[in-house]
Amino acid sequence: MREDADQRMQFLLTLRRRGISDKAVLRAMDEVPRERFVEGDYLHAAYADHALPICCGQTISQPYVVAYMTEQLEIAAHHRVLEIGTGSGYQAAILSRLAREVVSVERYRTLAETARSRLAALGYNNVEVVVGDGMAGAPQRAPYDRIIVTAAAATIPQTLTDQLAEGGIMVIPVGPQEGPQHIIKLKKLQTAPGREPELVREDLIAVRFVPLLPGQAEQL
Ligand code: SAH
Repeated sequence: MREDADQRMQFLLTLRRRGISDKAVLRAMDEVPRERFVEGDYLHAAYADHALPICCGQTISQPYVVAYMTEQLEIAAHHRVLEIGTGSGYQAAILSRLAREVVSVERYRTLAETARSRLAALGYNNVEVVVGDGMAGAPQRAPYDRIIVTAAAATIPQTLTDQLAEGGIMVIPVGPQEGPQHIIKLKKLQTAPGREPELVREDLIAVRFVPLLPGQAEQL
């Protein structure tokens, strides 16, 4: 128990030391039990600051990257957020503590179902996990105040920027599968009626993500 408390204190200290300063984000990172989202073999490393393997050859992202992307989203309590790449459900859990509602899309049914039951068991009832191709977004509920993609795209999918509300923010890792990837932050500016909305782009930190793949996964 004592060791657990030490590990979690260290976890938060590392995030702060690496520059995460948003209090609400730190609170969410403190509140969500990461050990509930990692696989049994990796329980000992649940609070270490690195990515870990999960089912279907995918990964649960590194805590620092989860906190960083969440901070960059500038979420307000009334926001509706779309996540592409549910994976373990951990990032969705963090988002659910900050936003009104989260819709998260995953192409592997197994991952989606596991994440859904983890989130329900923790009482995080404002998350809806959808099985499907996230490259198409989730148009039935669009537009979204915030969009986060947690798999690396070769280019920014226009389908997703189309589903971003005016004044909205999207963060997405962009780059080749085996090459340099960066978090890109896009802000959709409010425009006068009848004019095309403008996107302002900012290139942020270098990252390493599994690829955003087209279509729903056929197996698993
Ligand atoms: N956010 C996750 C990290 C998941 S890794 C977490 O907190 O654990 C990236 C995930 O994106 C993988 O589960 C992968 O299956 C999924 N993915 C990749 N391409 C996708 C697509 N087109 N639509 C939906 N999910 C996709």
